[in-house]
Amino acid sequence: MTSAREIESLLQSQLNEWPSAAANYAALTEVKVKDLDFGGMHFRVQFNPARAVSSGAKVDAASIKARKCFLCSDNRPECQQGMEWGGRYVILVNPFPIFPRHFTVPCTDHVPQSCRGAVADMLRLASELEGYTVFYNGPCCGASAPDHFHFQAGNSDFLPLAANLEKADISILKNCAEASLGIVDSLPVKMFVIDAITPEAGEQMFDLLSESLPVADGDSEPMLNMLAYSTGRATRLVVVPRKRHRPSFYGTEGDSCMMLSPAAVDMGGVFVTPRLVDFERFDTDTLSRTLKEICSGTDELAEVVVKLQNRN
Ligand SMILES: [Zn+2]
Repeated sequence: MTSAREIESLLQSQLNEWPSAAANYAALTEVKVKDLDFGGMHFRVQFNPARAVSSGAKVDAASIKARKCFLCSDNRPECQQGMEWGGRYVILVNPFPIFPRHFTVPCTDHVPQSCRGAVADMLRLASELEGYTVFYNGPCCGASAPDHFHFQAGNSDFLPLAANLEKADISILKNCAEASLGIVDSLPVKMFVIDAITPEAGEQMFDLLSESLPVADGDSEPMLNMLAYSTGRATRLVVVPRKRHRPSFYGTEGDSCMMLSPAAVDMGGVFVTPRLVDFERFDTDTLSRTLKEICSGTDELAEVVVKLQNRN
């Protein structure tokens, strides 16, 4: 068992010992933020220049092969300390934070990003870290290290997700003694919601969902982002099916391009813009266009529901 208090003391000691991480956390308190309401959801937009590293990350196979993996213990900065968790993970302070308390949780082995068989771990971690949301970016959906399996975690009160879902209509599709699976189709971010009493039951429900989601040729799993947090009664896993990694207008050249590389945090309601120009012009039209391009829509979700209903 690892508690929120333990990882917060890790953060505190790392801020004292690791000047560049401390500078990035200090800079976070100065970042510009604006609020947007769109389609029944509350969003926040964060101007965060330190995230250019991640948003601009080259994630094609050749670029990944050419760089040293920053999640492997041999290549991590000397001052980065970790806390072992769950027998096969280590909890690290994320030196390029979006959240005021932001952690990366890599597997101790250099294995590809894949959620297969790891959802119970994700739910267990979320249930242990009270007040934190544990999240996962698929290898083609925002993970800047698709070659090294990892989760991340950040303080939940920073994300509008839980509050957005409190107000949303969740239609239940499947129910068993220890987990339920519902769908939220009324919001601009379409999602599936699994409420699990035990991590194992949550994983079983996720497997059922995952087998009903489309997998593109050459991909190892459905395109998705996931976020998990404790609701008190259960651990909630939010699955956001995706159909595209970055919007068509992603880029840094040309007036109409924006440096937007949406991942789980963005799907949870905080859009990160590493460039001031993009922060300033980001509006509900940007949101609408981005979500339409990268997220599954009502029609795609309906197909998943049909497949789900044909399963037991
Ligand atoms: Zn690695």
